[in-house]
Amino acid sequence: MHTLPELSELERILELARGHLEVRVACEISADDKRFPVYQLTLGNPDPKLPAIGYFGGIHGLERIGTQVLLYFLRSLLTRLEWDKSLHQMLQEVRLVFMPLINPGGMWQSTRCNPQGVDLMRNAPIEATDRVPFLLGGQRISPRLPWYRGVAGAEMERENQALCRTVQEELLSRSFSIAVDCHSGFGSRDRVWFPYAHSVNPIAHLADILTLEELFQKSYPSNKYLFEPQSVQYRTHGDVWDYLYLQAQHDQSKTFLPLTLEMGSWLWVKKNPRQLLSRQGIFNPSVEHRLHRVLRRHTVWLDFMMRAACSHDNWLVKGPSRSRLQEHAVARWYR
Ligand SMILES: [Zn+2]
Repeated sequence: MHTLPELSELERILELARGHLEVRVACEISADDKRFPVYQLTLGNPDPKLPAIGYFGGIHGLERIGTQVLLYFLRSLLTRLEWDKSLHQMLQEVRLVFMPLINPGGMWQSTRCNPQGVDLMRNAPIEATDRVPFLLGGQRISPRLPWYRGVAGAEMERENQALCRTVQEELLSRSFSIAVDCHSGFGSRDRVWFPYAHSVNPIAHLADILTLEELFQKSYPSNKYLFEPQSVQYRTHGDVWDYLYLQAQHDQSKTFLPLTLEMGSWLWVKKNPRQLLSRQGIFNPSVEHRLHRVLRRHTVWLDFMMRAACSHDNWLVKGPSRSRLQEHAVARWYR
């Protein structure tokens, strides 16, 4: 038996959710003498004509808060299903996918990378076309150094294969889908990053991301997220969301928006500098009231994203005004 608290909480939620959730073990991972399941959960209407949203977390083993935020949201959804008629109605029109803990081996070993020493966010078969920072951008020197990409030409790590399979089957098969991947550790503000990480060029769906940002800021004006392309901060090799986004472009009639929530942890550290003394502390809020605030705040955002996916017909801009909006978005982020 494992004793990873996040995995135990996930399994308690699965007990609670019998009948509401479809549960699959996407793969199994060994670390030390333990074995850990990587769960994929789905709920809502499976009709492939309907939109979907996927929630992903725990790709980096040190960033436990990402998994915790998703488990808090999932528990809240399942509890509401016991009484909330409007939520049942919404789930008739949208598909939800959850992979809250993609790298349980890394979380068990308290490392960013997986048990093979590979950083799953540097591991996809995609090369940066612009200069990347030394090491941080992804390296093949050694798994003993951070940001290791894995051996050149090798298959992706099993966790990433499971992630890609889930995204391909559950999201890319639909005409509209969103992915939200929860991380922490960069900067003092909460950010929403979108592709590319491997290139400084704008993506074709900037117009949609700009619309989504405006929609959120208008609907929840007191919540401040900084939306930006990841390449504004730093470029990397092997970003799995770039890889999946590029795959989605094979069918231009479809829209797939992969977003990364980067919870700004430097503020938590500033308010409680003792956190700097532990590796976990740099990536996670360690004071109880701050943890609760983080969980509450991001639930609003995750819930908004579910509603935005469900109602995308009401806000997705089409026709001639779309290219004006795209130009506007390029000007905002790339000039
Ligand atoms: Zn991360």
